[in-house]
Amino acid sequence: MYRLVTDAPGQEAELLDLYKQFYPADKAASAPDIRHRFARVCGGWQNEIGIDGRKYAYFYAVDARAADDALLAKRLEKRAAKLALYRSLADFSGLALPWGSLTGIRPTKLAYELLSEGIRPEALADTLCERYDVSPEKAALTARIVRAQAGYLTQDETRYNLYLHVPFCTTKCRYCSFISETADRAAALIPGYVELLRRETAAALSLIEKKGGRLFSVYVGGGTPTALSAGQLDAVLGEIPLSGIECTVEAGRPDTITQEKLAVLSARGVSRVCVNPQTFHDDTLIGMGRGHTVADFYRAYELARRFGFSLNLDLIAGLRGETAADFLHSLSCAAALAPENLTIHTLSRKRGAGLYG
Ligand code: SF4
Repeated sequence: MYRLVTDAPGQEAELLDLYKQFYPADKAASAPDIRHRFARVCGGWQNEIGIDGRKYAYFYAVDARAADDALLAKRLEKRAAKLALYRSLADFSGLALPWGSLTGIRPTKLAYELLSEGIRPEALADTLCERYDVSPEKAALTARIVRAQAGYLTQDETRYNLYLHVPFCTTKCRYCSFISETADRAAALIPGYVELLRRETAAALSLIEKKGGRLFSVYVGGGTPTALSAGQLDAVLGEIPLSGIECTVEAGRPDTITQEKLAVLSARGVSRVCVNPQTFHDDTLIGMGRGHTVADFYRAYELARRFGFSLNLDLIAGLRGETAADFLHSLSCAAALAPENLTIHTLSRKRGAGLYG
C-alpha cells in the first residue's frame, strides 16, 4: 500500500513512480508513509520530507538560466523534487538505485543538456553522479554512449529532419501509451487528417527552403502509418522530395502490410521500413492485443524483403507472461532473419496504457 502525499504541483505521479522503485509490488506492504512539503522560496526550492516519522530537508538553488525560461524552470523544479525524494528514501531504506533519481528521462538526453551547459565531456560522468545520484557504473555507461554517438549527432543547423505522425492503428496494444486511435473508430477523421498532414508537410518544406536548409532525413511514425490505405500513403509522401534522403516508414503492424502499400513506399523512394514482430509467441501477441500472429509477421517480412528495403525489427523484452527463455527464442528468430537493424525495447508500464495499474 503506497501512501505518498505531496504538494509539489503536478508531480505526484512521477514521485510515486520513484517511490515504487524502492518498494516494488512485492514490497508494497512495507512501504512507509511519506509526506512531502514543497515550496518555491527565494532563490530555490525547499523540500521537507517526513518518512514514517523521520524528517529530511533539502534546499536546491534555482539555476540562473531558468529566470526567463518557464519550461526550463518547470523541468528543474521537477528534478529538484525527485532528487529530494530520492535522497530521503535512499537514506531511509539504505538502498541505492542504479540510475539514482532519474526516472522517465533518457539519460543521454540529460547528458547532452549538461554538455550544452558547458560541462566538459570528461566531467560528464562525475556530474551525473553528483547532481542526480546516478551510480558510477551507469554514469560511465552514459558518458561512453555519448562518446560513441559523437560524429553521428551533429550540430549542423542547415540539416533538417522531418517527422510525420500518423496516429492510427488496427487495434490498440495493451502496453501502448501513445496518442493513437484505431483506424475503425477514427475512420471518419482519417481523410481530413491526411489532407492536413499533406498541407503541413508542404508548409514545413517551404520553411526549410526559406531558411536555406536542406532535408536530411524523414521519419513517418505513429501509430502505424501503414494503417492508411495505399492512396493515402501516396498522398502523404507525395509532397516530399525523397531522392537521396533516408526515409523510414513504420509499418509496425504486419497485418497492415500489403503488396500495394509497399509498392507505393518503394515508388516514392522510402529506404527503410520497420516491421515489428515484438515477440515470436502467438499467446503473447494475443494477450497484448496485437491482432496479428507470428505467421503474419513472417509473411509481411518476406514481402518487404522482396521490395529491397532496409528492414528494422522491433522486439520487446519483459512482455507479460514471458520468461527470459521466451525472449531469447524471439531474439534468435529475429536474428536468424538478418535484418539490417534490430531494436530491442524493454517494457515500460506507462500511465495511459491498458496494462498500467
Ligand atoms: S502499434 Fe504502436 S502505436 Fe499502435 S497501438 Fe501498438 S504500440 Fe500503440
